[in-house]
Amino acid sequence: MKQKRWYDYLWLWSIIFFILGFFNILFAWLGMIEFILPLAISLFAKNKAFCNSFCGRGQLLNLLGSKFKLSRNKPTPKWIYSKWFRYGFLIFFLVIFIQMVFSTYLVFSGATSLNTVIKLLWTIKVPWHWPYTANLASPWIAQFAFGFYSIMLTSTILGIVVMLLYRPRTWCSFCPMGTMTQMICKAHNHKEQ
Ligand code: SF4
Repeated sequence: MKQKRWYDYLWLWSIIFFILGFFNILFAWLGMIEFILPLAISLFAKNKAFCNSFCGRGQLLNLLGSKFKLSRNKPTPKWIYSKWFRYGFLIFFLVIFIQMVFSTYLVFSGATSLNTVIKLLWTIKVPWHWPYTANLASPWIAQFAFGFYSIMLTSTILGIVVMLLYRPRTWCSFCPMGTMTQMICKAHNHKEQ
């Protein structure tokens, strides 16, 4: 049997992240590691090592789908990994991200007040007041955390839904981080040719 390495357990981090955020929303900031690290690895190491070895979410989906056999293991529909869908989803995701940063700015500048709401699937507003302790951090820091936790939770739910319906790691076919790191690696390869 293949010897396990420390990074084979990073799926635990994906679970711990949501538990921490459930009790204190400020922990959502830790999710930024999963944004910065894949981009940094693809930019500087010029490879997809993050996706291949260090992504807790990818491991978690694999674990649930393959080991716990929760996935129907049906072929992923072609449109899901088509270019238009992957890039379209990336654009959609970036728009949501920019919107979230703008909401943070509005709270920072005092134009609006803190909205302690988690948005599921970008539309369903779930009042999520309990994990926020006022005065622990500036309202804009909390606003970013609420927005970021919403994005992380929504994308995980989507990942789980497509894992159940198709292959365990179907989410990876259109994951915005995966698409961005692939674009960066392709650009590197292009330059080196
Ligand atoms: S495609 Fe996304 S979810 Fe899949 S391994 Fe890469 S970063 Fe993780």
